[in-house]
Amino acid sequence: MKVMKDFSPRKPAGWLVLAVLAISMLSGCTWMGGDDTDGGIKTAEADKPVQRYTGEMSQAVSLAYTTSRNLALTFNGMADVQTMDKLFDQLDALGIKATFFLPGMRVAEEPDIARQILSRGHEIENNTLNAVDMSRMDYGQIYKEIHLANDVIRKQTGVTPKFVRTQTGAISDDIRLAAAQSGQQAVISYSLFLHNWKAETPQQKKNYIRKYINRGGIVAIDLAENRTLNESVNLIAAEASAAGYHFVTLDKLVATGGVRKPADTVQGYQAAKYNADYAKADYNLVYSHKTAKKEIALTFDDWGTDETITKLLDILDQYHVKGTFFLRADGVEKNPNLARAIAQAGHDVGNHTYSHPVLTKLSVKQLQDEVVKAHRIITDAIQQQPAMLFRPPTGDIDDRTARIIAAAGYRNIVDFDIDPNDWNRERTASQIVNSVIQQSHSGGIILLHSLDDTHTAEALPGIIQNLRKQGYTFVKLSDWISDDGNPSGKER
Ligand SMILES: [Zn+2]
Repeated sequence: MKVMKDFSPRKPAGWLVLAVLAISMLSGCTWMGGDDTDGGIKTAEADKPVQRYTGEMSQAVSLAYTTSRNLALTFNGMADVQTMDKLFDQLDALGIKATFFLPGMRVAEEPDIARQILSRGHEIENNTLNAVDMSRMDYGQIYKEIHLANDVIRKQTGVTPKFVRTQTGAISDDIRLAAAQSGQQAVISYSLFLHNWKAETPQQKKNYIRKYINRGGIVAIDLAENRTLNESVNLIAAEASAAGYHFVTLDKLVATGGVRKPADTVQGYQAAKYNADYAKADYNLVYSHKTAKKEIALTFDDWGTDETITKLLDILDQYHVKGTFFLRADGVEKNPNLARAIAQAGHDVGNHTYSHPVLTKLSVKQLQDEVVKAHRIITDAIQQQPAMLFRPPTGDIDDRTARIIAAAGYRNIVDFDIDPNDWNRERTASQIVNSVIQQSHSGGIILLHSLDDTHTAEALPGIIQNLRKQGYTFVKLSDWISDDGNPSGKER
């Protein structure tokens, strides 16, 4: 699924030249050289150069920074009137308000379609004048592409675009500067650019889309390639609805988001660092907690889709239970909003490496890379210091490995002693529940997973209800093990 298409104008080149000239005169632009109309584009481009903007760049946004269960459906380009009408009806039927990035030239050609987008409750933004690839354009050309499209859209619809997106969704400093110079708040990319389907099975399509139904997600579809447009829109709507997520216009989505602090300014970013001097590093390896109280801890390892993890969060919330999530950072990196939602819900967020390797076979450098990189990505995502708790993938750990991890900043290494094998998709919910109940004891650490397509979420209410009935209360690991080196876990 890669962007690969050449954009060819629908009208002859001569027509385009006239349109550009007409637009420039209508909008009162001076760059075309108002009285020299027979020189065409060449003369116009040779006109005085645009000064590079020296102010602040527009924001670059490919995912809105929000933990609200909203995302945006956006389109690039403008199709013919029949395709557009059908799409408007479909969006109405699905109750979706979308955002249309329109090429200025298409708005000049068919202003009625642009006005209909607005009258049907959708939003219009800037797709540059000709929706061309701007990667090889100089600054002046980029500026004109953005600025002129704004003029046309404003003139024909009364709307002043806040955002601009290029044909491919590419973002560069020049584009961000030119966008700022044209008054655009942000240059938009996407979290999913959905192209025509090929030979995928229905299940493959569903699984593919499900990965991208994310909090703050920006789904893009190009209307120049619309062979499977209506099918794609239906699939996206179905998956969003399954996750309990809603579509809002991009304007609203970005407005509900905040601005992320740079990771290295977040307190605790430096808490993990490379340190080859590990031989004497002291660690605390925990399998369970010594306590007289009837307490037990739920832990969730790895990573999954928003749909899966949000389900777990909702169940925990419903029962007022806090747990500990050990996150795989290569997943967090792609979907930081979800990691932040876990932290915001009050759970511990711990480190489960970047790419989930078996640790005992790694060099010092490789191992600390896994730990430090994961720490930085998680800190960036949740915008606070994670719980300084580390869980080794597969649980495998030895003395050397533990020292290397401790030297990098994670001296509390937490394994588990209650394992119902919930990662195995064959395991039913009742098998998982029964296995946890049989192994449960005061101070026990239960290993569950946040993986897709398991029966964990289905089992979770049963686990909580049963253990509560036996008098257990649920704790998160930071209630037992403190960050500051005063752990009370027993070693085994
Ligand atoms: Zn794992």
